Amino acid sequence: MSDIIHLLPDSVANQIAAGEVIQRPASVLKELVENSIDAGADNIRIVIKDAGRTLIQVTDNGKGMSETDARISFERHATSKIQAADDLFNLHTMGFRGEALASIAAVAQVEMKTRRDEDELGTLIEIAGTRVFKQESIQCDKGTTFMVKNLFFNVPARRRFLKSDNVEKSHILNEFYRIALVNHEIEFSIYDGDEELLRLPASNIKVRIENVFGKSLKKKIQQQLLPIETSTKLVNIHGYVGKPEFAQKNANQYFFVNGRFMKHPYFHKAVMLAYNQMIQPNEGPNYFIYFDINPAAIDINIHPTKTEIKFEDEQAIWSILNATVKEALGKFNVVPSIDFDQEGAIDMPASNVPTESIRPPQTNFNPNYNPFNSTSYKRPALDWEKLYSGFEKKADVMIQHETEWEPEGLDLPSEPIVYSEEPEQQTIDTDEQKTANFQLKNRYIITSVKSGMLMIDQHRAHVRILFEQFLNEIEHHHAPSQQLLFPETLEMSHDDAIFLEQINDELTALGFRIEQTEDHLFNISGIPSEFEKENIKTILHDLIEKAKTTSMSTTEAIHEMIAQSLAEASALKNGQSLTNEEMTDLIDKLFACSSPNRTPDGKLITAILSLDEIQSRFR
Ligand code: ADP
Ligand code: MG
Repeated sequence: MSDIIHLLPDSVANQIAAGEVIQRPASVLKELVENSIDAGADNIRIVIKDAGRTLIQVTDNGKGMSETDARISFERHATSKIQAADDLFNLHTMGFRGEALASIAAVAQVEMKTRRDEDELGTLIEIAGTRVFKQESIQCDKGTTFMVKNLFFNVPARRRFLKSDNVEKSHILNEFYRIALVNHEIEFSIYDGDEELLRLPASNIKVRIENVFGKSLKKKIQQQLLPIETSTKLVNIHGYVGKPEFAQKNANQYFFVNGRFMKHPYFHKAVMLAYNQMIQPNEGPNYFIYFDINPAAIDINIHPTKTEIKFEDEQAIWSILNATVKEALGKFNVVPSIDFDQEGAIDMPASNVPTESIRPPQTNFNPNYNPFNSTSYKRPALDWEKLYSGFEKKADVMIQHETEWEPEGLDLPSEPIVYSEEPEQQTIDTDEQKTANFQLKNRYIITSVKSGMLMIDQHRAHVRILFEQFLNEIEHHHAPSQQLLFPETLEMSHDDAIFLEQINDELTALGFRIEQTEDHLFNISGIPSEFEKENIKTILHDLIEKAKTTSMSTTEAIHEMIAQSLAEASALKNGQSLTNEEMTDLIDKLFACSSPNRTPDGKLITAILSLDEIQSRFR
């Protein structure tokens, strides 16, 4: 029997390769535009017809090709971008595989015009199904134009596999955004037939984002995005993250590394965790995050269409990214722009408010206040006793303040950052300096702000305040503890006891003193000063229940779970009547929080009825 193995003809081999590289019109667009970028173009014009089925045309003003290069560029493994395997670890170009043009020419009818600056005449090549039909010298502009017509003209199965025009067009646009968002210094325009879809002049990143998504964003991105910036030996990260209140169902989320779009589920998690508690579970923040890193420290996916990229120091970068996003959210005090102002205030019948000398609540934000920067936090002497003044202190309880917390081995900023609430100021705030607040149904606090009427859910507000307070206490171990003269005994199942042991350090930081005496018996000798002894067992049982259903994979998640559970359990209830002073105090503390408008689980705390809305009711 004769030998049966033979080499495939190029046209077939290329068509098989094309199966990998060119899946749909969007893949053609990506390959052509990336080539234009690699060719140093600063102006790229794209035209598509019929969602790219009949035409994808890309014109650039890049360096062009010589006549020989023009011909050879369609060969498989023809590339000017790498020479040896080692170059793969030091990539500075988008392309490197040398298979895009060969693949496109195998499954479409391609016309290419190209001219280098130094050549008088350019080159025209027509090629279809890997067969060259025409090659001649022509007059043309400097740069390169590719016209890719009738994609999959010779592969009906693939043509049928394409989706509706709308779907294919959205694939094209998505691919285009990924490129345009990271090549902001290049001018782009994209047309659907004669209709201009987008024109993006060269600009900075912020303007580029605005130009790309401006129409779909309801508000200017200036109001929606916070800048992030960090530079370490390992990696530089910059870009923008959305404010939590602009989170949406289909958020625009983009990572780029060294000028290339990438998907990175693990880093995505780092960003999402920074927003933990600030947004609804089914929503996501917009983000546009750019990494610059030594190319040797990443592994560009060798697969032609995959966008996942491996990083050498993934864990370290994860932490840097997470901290960077948190810092941005903290530093910029993602707070609604509420301007307390009594001007034009509604004359509300608040109880025991003297009519003279009404002063707006003092809410001075410290723009440098960063709740996540452990060194900058100076715990305010919280005056919670005031809020609880209605509750009699039990005779068997005495407050024992821990020795002053001293940060160890931390570099304190040279100028200590002072927390916006000065406890001294707070205490001289006596009767003459009361503010008109109004409590509705013992549940909502209503006060006047510049833009209208601010309504606050008192329970949720207090949950947010306590949550942030507890989080800080867990991190800094500085909470005062009430010593119980008669310790309580807490009984727990074996399983629950394991959970309690696991979080006992955090509970100690918060002021609890809990000791295991027997297998399932615990002795409680101290509790945080905010808590009532009577409720403590229920609170701890609830906490353990919550611990069982929460993923406790990171220390952070554990801290947040504890802070949230305890805040919910001990916060002021709805139905509790508050004095004007207590309301002012609550408002002040709420707006000193890093995220005053949402509870840790994303519920709204504040709402504003604008002056316009109020006025319209009286028309
Ligand atoms: P790769 O981009 O991986 O090198 P391609 O098949 O996409 O492979 O392109 C092959 C070669 O053709 C490139 O290496 C480049 O030298 C040349 N080329 C392709 N497109 C252009 C262009 N728009 N301008 C200049 N040269 C180009
Ligand atoms: Mg290429």
